[in-house]
Formats: sequence, C-alpha cells, structure tokens
Amino acid sequence: MQFDNFIYICYMFFKEIIGQHELKQQLIQTVTDKRISHAQLFAGTEGSGNLALAIAYAQYISCQNKHDDDSCGYCKSCIKFQKLVHPDLHFAFPVNTTNRVKKDASSDNFISEWRKLVIDFPYFSEFMWYEYIGITGKQGNIDKSDAEMIQQKMNFKPFEADYKFMIIWLPERMNITAANKLLKLIEEPPENTLFLLVSKNIDQIIKTILSRTQLIRVPPVDEQSMQKMLAERYDLSPNEIQVLTRLSAGDVLKAIKIHDRHETEQDFLDSFKSMMRFAYEYKFAELLDWAEEMAQLGREQQKSFLYFAQQMIRENFIINLKIHDIVYATDKEKDFSLNFSQFITSKNVENVYSTINLAMSHIEHNGNQKIIFSDLAIKLAQLIRKA
Ligand SMILES: [Zn+2]
Repeated sequence: MQFDNFIYICYMFFKEIIGQHELKQQLIQTVTDKRISHAQLFAGTEGSGNLALAIAYAQYISCQNKHDDDSCGYCKSCIKFQKLVHPDLHFAFPVNTTNRVKKDASSDNFISEWRKLVIDFPYFSEFMWYEYIGITGKQGNIDKSDAEMIQQKMNFKPFEADYKFMIIWLPERMNITAANKLLKLIEEPPENTLFLLVSKNIDQIIKTILSRTQLIRVPPVDEQSMQKMLAERYDLSPNEIQVLTRLSAGDVLKAIKIHDRHETEQDFLDSFKSMMRFAYEYKFAELLDWAEEMAQLGREQQKSFLYFAQQMIRENFIINLKIHDIVYATDKEKDFSLNFSQFITSKNVENVYSTINLAMSHIEHNGNQKIIFSDLAIKLAQLIRKA
C-alpha cells in the first residue's frame, strides 16, 4: 500500500476517521453525560475504523480543552496522544517471536512498530501487522506475559490524565491463561481505568471476557464517506468510485485492496497489449525489449501476469464466439478486446493457452526468465497469425 504522497493526516481525531458519524456522536455523548463504561468492546471489520475510534475516544476523554465534536489537538494531552506516547495510554496486541525477539514476546517488545503503524494509518489487518513485525507462518497471541504487563500497568494511578487507558487490539487472540488473569481486573478495574477492546470477531473472544464488556458495534462505513475517501486518495472516475464503493461493502481496507489489485491489472493489461501488438506486427526487437522488461519482475508477479494473460485469452476467445454475457472488470479491457478478439479463434486458442501454461511452469521451476519471456513472445507471434 502506498500512502507516501498523501498529506499527513492525524487519525487520532474523530473528524479524520472515515464515516461513522453517528457512532462518534454517541461516544462523545457518553463523555458529556459522564457515563463512560469501564470496559467497552469496539466490534467491527478490520476496515471499519474500530481501532481508530477507540483511540480517538481515549484522546477525547483525556483532552483538557475538548470541543463539542472533537478533541482540541493542541493541549498537553492531545500532543502526547497524537504520538501515542501519553503515559496513561497503554496497548496490548497479539505478538509472537521474531528474528529480533527470540523468546517471551510481549506487546512492549513491539511498541515502537505499533506506534508507527497506527500513526501512519490505523486501518490495517491482523495479517498486515504480523508481516510488519516479521512474524511469518504463525499467529500472534496475547499471553500470560502480556496479562501480567496489563495488571502491573493498570494498578498505577493515572499519571497525568483523569483516566488511564488499556487498549487491547484483537482480544480474540488472548489465551485462556491470560484471560483468567485479567477477568477480575476487567470486571472491577481500579478507579479511573478504562479498558477499550477492539475486535474483528467477537465469537472468538473467551466468553468470560466478552460478558464483562459493553458491546459497541462499529457498522460498515457509509457509502458517502467511502466515496469521499476514495476521491481524496485516488485519481478515479465517478463511475470507478461508485463501483469500488459498492464492492468494498463499507470496509476501508477492502476498498484499498481492490483498488491496488485493480491497478496491478491495469499494468498487466498494458504489458499484455504491448506483447500482442509487437507479436502481431512481427516486431522482434521490441518483443525482446519487452521480454527483458518482464524478466525484471519478481517470479510471483511474472506468474500473476501469465495468469492474467490466460484469462484475457479465454475471455477474448469467448467474445469471438459471440457469447456476450461476460462480466468485464474494466472498460479499458473491453475496448481492447473489441479489436483483439478476432485473433483468438478455435484454430489457435488451445496452442496459445498451452504456450502460456508452459511459460508459467518454467517460471515455477526457476528457468531463466529472459529466455522464457522471449520464447513466449516469439511463439505467440506465430500463433496469432494462424487465427
Ligand atoms: Zn486536547
């Protein structure tokens, strides 16, 4: 994901969190009415903004100069919150051993990575978190050592704020030992202590923990806010924004993922078009340059490209057979296919398909990529002339 070219946004404010207007209002109301529950569970999909909301809520409660609709942003508390270094703000989240932390991994070992990721963009998945801290092939958990850390930290009085906060991200990853240690604390926390749990799947939370929290359902992001977010971030047509909004089903992460995949497919389509145009015109020098360029990609990407190429071949053959009820990803593909489909017929489709298949299997077996792609290009040049 690339956010480098976006202006710096501080997500610890309600106003920067995407959508969720009604819920923000409800949370603010609990502060105004002074009826803040001591253990609250923010439940929603990974792209709903549940983590961002929990942090913004804590910042708002602590703000020394709060407005009706948001924290001030410049008081002593807000400044520390924005860097996630307020001494009364604590976090626990699933971790595991890595190359750096070889045993007894606990949240505190990864706090600087956590702060960086959350400040950057507090919409990330459990998988993205593990990738970021270098856990591969295993799941993280919140275990005994984290439970002890939580007990220890929560037993101090707040240092600066009226409240101290323990934000537990993914309490569903808490094991039974940790849960047992924390039960009493979550049920009857010391004065002015708030537990804010942030979950993507409450069915997986240990029941005794779940029953001690007040459930706050974080709904999908509304369409209007999603559209606004997409328009601000990407250069998309109104139609593309509408399609993406519909496909995302109110999940910001999903929208971003679909967008990124779509961008890759556009790149693939451009490569595929060049390849086929050079092949058709017998421009061998250009075909070799093209093969050289393809050889620079990673093997996974090369395989994805070849897979994409097969899909294009299949779809274009079907168009050529005049079967029109196919769903297209983009208008660009459709435009291309109107011309290209005439070159994929029953005379060559099988050979084209198996030629691409062969290239894919050579890539998988670590063959020389430049040779594989130039071979492919030359064979395709001959095959599409036999349409
Ligand atoms: Zn403030």
